[in-house]
Amino acid sequence: MLVVEDDRKRLREMADLLREGATMLAQSCPVCNVPLFRLKSGEVICPSCKRRVVVLKEGEDVGGGRGVGVGVDVRLREVLSRKLAEVIGRIEEVEDEDRLLKLLELARRINELLREV
Ligand SMILES: [Zn+2]
Repeated sequence: MLVVEDDRKRLREMADLLREGATMLAQSCPVCNVPLFRLKSGEVICPSCKRRVVVLKEGEDVGGGRGVGVGVDVRLREVLSRKLAEVIGRIEEVEDEDRLLKLLELARRINELLREV
């Protein structure tokens, strides 16, 4: 179960970030493809590489005129981030392997959605 163990470790690091008030971003790390997190300080980091990443501000290259759409995306991302944190919390507690795999799959799907919004 090496892969699951790796996922668990990574998810736990993400959970820690979320608990500290960081936000998961739609962008992923150019090196390892893990979702990036914005810390409360405003710094954007990759939880896997443990490095600071410089990203363009959201909507910076889009220009005006799509305010409402952007707002909905941000809201959806917030909800998904919170759900992901919940799922990760359950992953930490669950002991049954089948349930663990289901939760990991759920976390993966939420992650994918987060990348699309
Ligand atoms: Zn990375």
